[in-house]
Parts: sequence; structure tokens; C-alpha cells
Amino acid sequence: MSVVDRKETIVVGAGVGGCTAGLYAKRYGQDVLILDKAAPGGLAATAAHIANYPGFPEGISGLELAERVHQQARNHGTAIELVEVTGLEPHNDEWLLHTTGGDYVAIAIIIAAGARPRTLQVPGETELRGMGVSYCATCDGFFFRDETVAVIGGGDVALEEAVYLSELAAKVYVVHRRDELRAQSHLQQQAFALDNIEFIWDSVVTEIIGDQQVEGLLIQNKKTADQRRLDLDGVFITIGYVAATQWLGNIVELNDGFIVTDQYMRTNRPGIFAVGDIRSGSLRQIATAVGDGAIAAHSAYEYVNQRPEQ
Ligand code: NAP
Repeated sequence: MSVVDRKETIVVGAGVGGCTAGLYAKRYGQDVLILDKAAPGGLAATAAHIANYPGFPEGISGLELAERVHQQARNHGTAIELVEVTGLEPHNDEWLLHTTGGDYVAIAIIIAAGARPRTLQVPGETELRGMGVSYCATCDGFFFRDETVAVIGGGDVALEEAVYLSELAAKVYVVHRRDELRAQSHLQQQAFALDNIEFIWDSVVTEIIGDQQVEGLLIQNKKTADQRRLDLDGVFITIGYVAATQWLGNIVELNDGFIVTDQYMRTNRPGIFAVGDIRSGSLRQIATAVGDGAIAAHSAYEYVNQRPEQ
């Protein structure tokens, strides 16, 4: 086995949580490296406008915020390498990371690999992505001013997005697979009170129709099996998130694919920590990812320094 590099702490993922962990680890005097398969930024970088991150009263674009956090980590001397991490296993008393750029060893690992929106997996979804198929109303809602759109799902995100879109679009359908919403009741009341939101219950999308642009949906009622076509201009798929933990195997405890941590961001394996959207129970906010990153860096610092001399 040839090891490319050995560090005290390696952070997997260069989104805002990972970059904050890297920044804090460096300020604790640690020898730290961040690995990410793509340009730093994570999911936050895809948000058009972030209005709720403290310190930016006028709001800030997700990309600019992500780039600033990344630059700040670099300014403090945190190195970032672009490789994809494909596996993690114990290695003596340390951890071995397999990557597309070779193997890395670290005493502590901070996992900040994030989560991505769950896909519907129906015909037309991949083909029309970015051409009327979106996973983020705050990013793309602007393009559907005075048009007709559908939101798929019945959770908090679906209803928040539907309410947001109702201010822009002429008409918003909410297509939900049951006759009861999962979303919190105050969001339900908000959505029910809006005239231009129409709920389509007990229904699933079987196809997204369109050539160069979304033109409609085929939906099927699960109780009656009736199929019908809904003509519209855009569809927002908000059916939850999938954590980027596939590469981890069973190395740490997971809950529905998300990493279980305690309040110190410790997983059930000594020396492995997790931050941000990949954590089970995360609020999935930039503010919480940043807080997680600071805590995890401190926990990793203590872990590295409290180990008996090797
Ligand atoms: P979620 O709560 O898991 O809801 C996902 C929704 O999508 C559910 O209604 C589910 O239907 C539906 N769904 C899942 N897979 C589907 C499929 N293949 N086809 C059709 N429908 C499908 O996810 P979320 O709304 O993204 O929220 C994630 C977490 O963030 C939650 O814990 C939420 O409370 C939290 N959050 C909180 C706030 C807030 O407090 N303001 C805001 C946003 C998010 P079923 O109901 O039938 O399962």
C-alpha cells in the first residue's frame, strides 16, 4: 500500500461545514487537509440567495458565501485537494481513506460530505433537469413567474417551497402520494389559505413530459389507478434528501443513511466525526453546518492530543 499523505485530521467534503472544520482545525494548530471531489461549495453554493445566515443583513448568494468560507480556510493555511473519497477503513490506530488520488492516512476524520435531494426516478426527470425540473424553488423559482408549476412531496420542504412559489407563479399544484401531509401544521395552514395552491392527493408522478422544456406531468391516483395529464411549465421535486454515505459502508452507525453523532459530533467510532447535512437530525442549515464544523474540529483536536504517544 502506498500512502500519498498522512495528516492529523482529514476533512471529507469542502462545503461550508467542511471548510469551517478545516479552518478551526488549522487554528488549533493541527496538520489538516480537506478532500473533495469537486470545486468547494457543497449544496449551499447552489442557493441563489441566502437570507438567514447571520452577518449578511442584505442576504448573500450561496456561491459567494461558500467561496468566502473556502477562501477563509485557505487564508489560514488549510490545504484542499480535489480527489474523490471512495472508502474508509481502520489502519492500526488510525484511519485509512481510499481516494481516486491514492490512499491517505489520518488520526481523525471529519465527514462533511453532505446530502443531495432525493430523485423521483421517473422518465423525463434526468432528461429535463434544468429545463423545468428543479430541486430547489429558492434557486429556480424566479424562472417561473406567472407560470404553472408543481411541487412534489408532502413534507416541510415541499410546503415551504409551494408557499414561496405561490408568490411568483400563477398556479402551484402540490402532488402528494397520500391524503395526509407530513409537514408541520403551521405550514399546512399557510398553504391551505393560499388560493393559487391546489393539492392533488394520493397521487404519484409516473412521467415528466416535455421535449426541450417541461410541458406536463403524467400522474396516477394510487387509490383509483386513474392516470391523467397535468399541463405545466415546471416541477419542483422535494421528496427528502439522501446522505452521501454510500462510500462509508457500515463503518459508522447510520440512521436511514445519515450519520448518527452526539453533541460533540462524535460518531460511534473513535476518531470519526461528522458535520452538516450528512448528520442524522441535522437542521440542514448553513448556520448549523458552520456550528457543527467548529465543534467537530475541537473534538478532533482533543482526540488527536489525548491519544497516547505512538
Ligand atoms: P421529509 O420530511 O422526509 O418529507 C419528504 C416528503 O416526500 C414526504 O411527504 C414523503 O411522503 C414524500 N416522498 C418521499 N419519497 C417519495 C417518492 N419517492 N415519491 C413521492 N413522494 C415521496 O423531507 P423534507 O421535507 O425534505 O424535510 C427534511 C427534514 O428537514 C425534515 O426533518 C423536516 O422537518 C426538516 N425541515 C424543517 C423545516 C422547518 O422546521 N421549517 C424546514 C425544512 C425542512 P410521505 O409523507 O408519504 O412519506
